[in-house]
Amino acid sequence: MKITLKALGDIADEVMGELGNRVGAIFHCPVEIGAGFSDFAQAYNPERKQYLSSKLLTALGKAQREERVVGIADVDLYVPRLNFVFGEADVSSGTAIISLCRLRQEYYGLAPDEVLFLERATKEIVHELGHIFGLGHCPNNRCVMHFSNSLADTDLKEAQFCNMCRPRIIL
Ligand SMILES: [Zn+2]
Ligand SMILES: [Zn+2]
Repeated sequence: MKITLKALGDIADEVMGELGNRVGAIFHCPVEIGAGFSDFAQAYNPERKQYLSSKLLTALGKAQREERVVGIADVDLYVPRLNFVFGEADVSSGTAIISLCRLRQEYYGLAPDEVLFLERATKEIVHELGHIFGLGHCPNNRCVMHFSNSLADTDLKEAQFCNMCRPRIIL
C-alpha cells in the first residue's frame, strides 16, 4: 500500500515533504508526493467565495490499485448545507481532499504558528485517510477519527488512532 499526497495549487515543497514524512510514520507505509492540478475554476462558487469540495475530489480521479490519494488544497472548501469543510473522503475511489485554509492561525487574525499548522494538517490528512481505510467517526475526543466541528476539536485530538480504531484500519 502506498499513499500519494497531491498538491492542489501552490503549496510549498517543504510543507508537502513534511506532511508526507508525518503521514508515513503514522501508517508505516511509503508516501509519495505527486503533482495535482491548479485549475479550480469549475468548483468555484462566487456567491460563497468558496470551492465545492466534492467537485475537486472528483477531479482527483481514482486512486490506482494499492494506492490511496489525498489532495491538499489551499482554498476554502464547502459542501451544501455546511459553512465549510476541513476535508472530504470518497471511499469508493480511494481519494480524499483537505483544505489548509482554516488551519493557519493567520486565518483567525493570530500570529503564524508553523508547528501548530503542520500538526493540524497532519491530523486532517490522517482523519480522511482513516475514512478511506474503512473507519467512521470515533467518540474518543483524543482520537484522530473524532469529528472536528471546530479547530478546538482538531487541536484537542492527537494525530494517532485510538486503541479501538487502530486495529480496524484495513491497509
Ligand atoms: Zn470525518
Ligand atoms: Zn478512535
